[in-house]
Amino acid sequence: MIPTRRFGPTGRDVPILGQGTWQLRDKAAALDALRVGLDLGMTHVDTAELYTGSEEVVGQAIAGRKRDEIFLVSKVLPQHASYEGTLRACDASLARLGTSYLDVYLQHWNDGSFPIAETMRAMGTLIDQGKIRFAGVSNFDVDELAEAKSALGKHRLACNQVLYHLGARGIESDVLPWCKKNGVAVVGYSPFGSRGGFPTGKAGRALEEVARRLGKTPRQVTLAFLARDESVFLIPKAEKSEHVRENAGGAFALPKDALATLDEAFPMRPGLSFL
Ligand code: NAP
Repeated sequence: MIPTRRFGPTGRDVPILGQGTWQLRDKAAALDALRVGLDLGMTHVDTAELYTGSEEVVGQAIAGRKRDEIFLVSKVLPQHASYEGTLRACDASLARLGTSYLDVYLQHWNDGSFPIAETMRAMGTLIDQGKIRFAGVSNFDVDELAEAKSALGKHRLACNQVLYHLGARGIESDVLPWCKKNGVAVVGYSPFGSRGGFPTGKAGRALEEVARRLGKTPRQVTLAFLARDESVFLIPKAEKSEHVRENAGGAFALPKDALATLDEAFPMRPGLSFL
């Protein structure tokens, strides 16, 4: 089973490694892979109205399972994030997922279409209606985070889902410290840089060497490095079951010397990156 940690203010212990569902190519394979992941304890499942067909596949994957053992997250598009639009988008996501509530509902990103406060007001309504347990955001910088947190009032901001991989560690400069200080979980997306490619050159060799020494694979070491902070959760996407099995082995504590080697090989450059 995957180790868990407390997810921001939710009171829920959530597995460090969950599952992403963007850009599914083979829906049948993706469904199998999701089920394998759920059986392995990767029960934090991330989807979005943007990911055409993905919510339906997730709905199939969780059908027949105990709903309270799944940590289900979906997202509203910024163009739909008016007060009424957010309520409508949530209803549509729930219908596609075949469930009565989301554990966290995220504003996918802020493009200025609607005031953040208006979207968060809708989130508050959805919480009061029992359609979502918590509100969250994605791709928010610290100013946007502060605005969302304050707009939510009595409701708590659960998480900020952000780009985080070995070549994009910018959140460590400001977003991650802000979230830690404010008790907000950080969910790192695209931990393999999205396209499944792999670091090459000197840095890639350093990663391979660490993996060899520890008897792990480079991808497992990548996940372990990115999840080293106790506020961070990761949602790698894999529609090949063997990839899911490999990734499930990536929730472990790296020794100090391995952390130092990787920190040097993949230096942090400040600033929030956006896919
Ligand atoms: P990712 O998880 O960094 O990489 C996915 C790619 O890595 C796929 O091609 C996958 O292949 C491959 N892969 C996974 N495990 C592997 C393994 N063990 N060995 C070899 N290849 C492996 O990319 P992502 O999909 O961009 O990010 C993850 C999730 O984050 C998304 O699915 C989505 O849920 C979320 N996300 C959110 C945002 C946002 O704006 N909030 C943006 C991007 C992503 P196969 O599929 O063939 O197994």
